[in-house]
Amino acid sequence: MKTQNLYHAGYVAVVGKPNVGKSTLVNALLGQKVAAVSPRPQTTRRRQLGILTLPNAQVVFVDTPGIHRPVHRLGEFMNSSAAATLEDADLILWMVDVNNPPAAEDILVAERLAAVNRLPRVMLLLNKMDLVDLDTLSKNSAAYQALFPNAFQVLPISASTGYNCQELLSQLIDTLPQGAPFFDEEQVTDFYEREIAADLIREAALLHLREEIPHAIAVRMDEYKERDAENAFIAATIFVEKESHKGIVIGRGGVMLKQIGTTARKEIENMSGRKIFLELRVKVNKNWRNDPNALKWLGYSLDTEN
Ligand code: GDP
Ligand code: MG
Repeated sequence: MKTQNLYHAGYVAVVGKPNVGKSTLVNALLGQKVAAVSPRPQTTRRRQLGILTLPNAQVVFVDTPGIHRPVHRLGEFMNSSAAATLEDADLILWMVDVNNPPAAEDILVAERLAAVNRLPRVMLLLNKMDLVDLDTLSKNSAAYQALFPNAFQVLPISASTGYNCQELLSQLIDTLPQGAPFFDEEQVTDFYEREIAADLIREAALLHLREEIPHAIAVRMDEYKERDAENAFIAATIFVEKESHKGIVIGRGGVMLKQIGTTARKEIENMSGRKIFLELRVKVNKNWRNDPNALKWLGYSLDTEN
């Protein structure tokens, strides 16, 4: 059997302390599609998703800033979902700067990895090889491996010069499960950011509605268009279970919906670093919580479930 004839597809989580070169690597592997993935490479608070579609594989790179220190209000959400992101990944790339010995944040990352229940395979990437001398390399490489002895592979690379990057790509594709691609070939969108945005809209609605409609709402993203690096257009639908709830969410003269929209828009702007144009609608969908299809398009089930 020739493995190169089989299609591989999967999620690859990229973790590591800030400035080790995670964005540089993902950008380098994605090539042309860079701009859509990372308009602001230094912005660590934004989750990034990069989709690389090749003739033999689709690799979905997920940046997980939530594994680092919480730096803003979203921190708690991100931290709790960071562990889930790691569990759901098919492969984890743990990147370090091999020029420096492990720092407190590297140790933290290693501890977070070790704490994940069903940890996928971890590949340790010793980055910035272009700067290192042999002594430093052997000393630091040993120190990083000691932090997390369960890495199944250790690969020295340079994300900026491209050293070993093709080797890395072919090795990681081999580890991904066989299966159909998750996304259209031309799609490089930031699905993860969309999910957070939907959550922020839900949060804003619950904040303004207080106890009136306890948790009986869901948010569906209808459109998430990045107009350019600075601006995005979002259309979303808030689903409620009853006609009477619809009126409450919209409010007299639309006041409530407007408040929800303003709060959500500010939060999404904080999260994404973009100016957001937000369009909200309200619809009734009785019993969405028990409807598997509704749950699926609302994002409550995993693509990876069979
Ligand atoms: P991130 O915070 O982990 O995403 O790190 P970035 O990708 O933003 O990179 C941080 C800095 O390290 C940038 O100035 C990059 O140009 C630089 N960098 C990344 N990879 C390499 C590498 O392999 N060699 C060298 N010399 N610099 C690199
Ligand atoms: Mg980065």
